[in-house]
Amino acid sequence: MNLVLLGAPGAGKGTQAEKIRKALDIPVLSTGNLLRQAIAAGTELGKKVESIIDGGNLVPDELVFGLVAERLREPDCARGVIFDGFPRTIHQAEALDKALAVDVVLDLEVPDDVILHRMSGRRICPNCQASYHVVDNPPRVEGVCDKCGAALTIRHDDQPETVKARLEVYHKQTEPIKEYYRAQGKLRTVQGQPRLSDTVRLVSEALGVAL
Ligand code: ADP
Repeated sequence: MNLVLLGAPGAGKGTQAEKIRKALDIPVLSTGNLLRQAIAAGTELGKKVESIIDGGNLVPDELVFGLVAERLREPDCARGVIFDGFPRTIHQAEALDKALAVDVVLDLEVPDDVILHRMSGRRICPNCQASYHVVDNPPRVEGVCDKCGAALTIRHDDQPETVKARLEVYHKQTEPIKEYYRAQGKLRTVQGQPRLSDTVRLVSEALGVAL
């Protein structure tokens, strides 16, 4: 199954992606994580995109396509992929349709004011990319990744001003994708709930997958 997760930055796509990955045993392709890995590794691509990401803007489509195409060539993607953070423009959605058949698009709806609150509490693991929230989804030990034990950090682009810019970019450039997929009959919308377990239940129902 090829699944696209749509939703504003901080809507909780990464958290749901992780649950779905475990249930279906297919990999998550997060363009945000691939880009951050490129920055951390100091690659040419990483150098090009660092300031764009820190400003809350979208990385040019061609650079993202290269990363996605490379990842899709790996054998573990053969049985299906969970796309997190891609596509983010209509142009990217069209390119993805040329590469493979998207089965379902899960749209996670969360109001902007809730997002702004959430982002201020987000912590990520710089080592394995796991994501936490100090209140909503805390690690077992404060400041330490449950999965790999690394010290959790705050993402550069989670500063309040950058979050506002990212929300604007989302509404302008990414939200139109909903109509694109609705027209294809693939869109399933879930309202994000205050409690993570409630959102997981709704996502599970929307996908028909036990999570
Ligand atoms: P979030 O969903 O929380 O905004 P991501 O980790 O998905 O975070 O993305 C972080 C940043 O990486 C984005 O703000 C953008 O600059 C860049 N990025 C990620 N995916 C894409 C994409 N598909 N196209 C363009 N830029 C992207």
